[in-house]
Amino acid sequence: MIYFDAAATRAVLPEVMETCKPYFKDSYGNPSALYDMGLDARRAVEQSRRTIANILNCSPSEIFFTSGGTESDNWALNGRGVYCSSIEHHAVLNHINNGIIPCNSQGIVSLNYLKSCLSFATKETKYKPIVSIMYANNEIGVIEPIEDAAEIAHHFGCKFHTDAVQYFGHGKIDLSYIDYMSVSGHKIGAMKGIGFLYAKDGLIASMLKGGEQERGHRAGTENVPAIVSLAVASDVMYKNLESNNMKLRNLQSYLYTNISKNFPMAHLNGTDNWDERLPNILSFRFDGYQGEVLQSFLNDFGIAVGTGSACNSGNGKPSHVLKSIGLSDEESNSTIRFSYTENNTLDDIDTLINVLKQAITILR
Ligand code: PLP
Repeated sequence: MIYFDAAATRAVLPEVMETCKPYFKDSYGNPSALYDMGLDARRAVEQSRRTIANILNCSPSEIFFTSGGTESDNWALNGRGVYCSSIEHHAVLNHINNGIIPCNSQGIVSLNYLKSCLSFATKETKYKPIVSIMYANNEIGVIEPIEDAAEIAHHFGCKFHTDAVQYFGHGKIDLSYIDYMSVSGHKIGAMKGIGFLYAKDGLIASMLKGGEQERGHRAGTENVPAIVSLAVASDVMYKNLESNNMKLRNLQSYLYTNISKNFPMAHLNGTDNWDERLPNILSFRFDGYQGEVLQSFLNDFGIAVGTGSACNSGNGKPSHVLKSIGLSDEESNSTIRFSYTENNTLDDIDTLINVLKQAITILR
């Protein structure tokens, strides 16, 4: 299979497989146990926390392991008044009880709107909502102006959370203006079902009550192999950041050029300012075609791509992200998301373009 759906998930990195193996097989002790096997597991958990903290230049006590992006988002936002952008993942969007901040047609959140909402919301009450704006969008690959959004949130005395699930591993992160940040392992080549929440100064209410794991904040026996996988994948991704991004930008430019050249009915979704885009996601609508029909055609030829309704697959609704950048239902449903890793090749893209040409001719 030629895989162009890396924003959905990706394969576990070979380095991760190797490093995690002993924690399935030999060092499988409970990290809370006080004999050698337990202590080995505890060391692995704490070393993993330090690895991630080093990458982010923060304290290990600010990193809390979770089951992934969804849980991290929930943990940061549960029980709070939330303002977020209209293009957030549902793990954030479903918390909304205060307000939704719209985006422009490029997919960039409106900072002016955020400012006026907070100015109104914080005027007569001591109770401060939290602002959540994603670092980069999972459907269209647009990077949001989160430093400016955080500055506005702080100006009005609000905390700032960012869902960095799609950004982590693709760019450097400065935590100085971020209060909470969500990350997921399976987007960067770690196992599924692992992630972390960064909480500045370790300040966050408890998520799960029970034992003393995660310093009493999230009870439950730690998933040691998964935690190790997250640290190894993070380490590999950040060590290779520059070279991976160079490869991804090259793939992106080749894919963009070839789609634009061969398919006049194709239009890029989101900004065409490449500095405001992730290097590994391109979303196109193909006017007059159904994204899901194209997806199925490509699948028959061994090519996996996402569609504009990836997050809603099964419910038939057009994507809220595409709707909020101004697309009609029909345009949203004509969208395909191409997302790739540094292991994809220009040959993969040639194959994709050739199959897509057939699809466009046959399905006309
Ligand atoms: N946030 C974003 C932006 C995502 O893309 C995803 C997954 O697609 C999530 C949150 C959820 O992460 P997880 O699958 O680890 O729960």
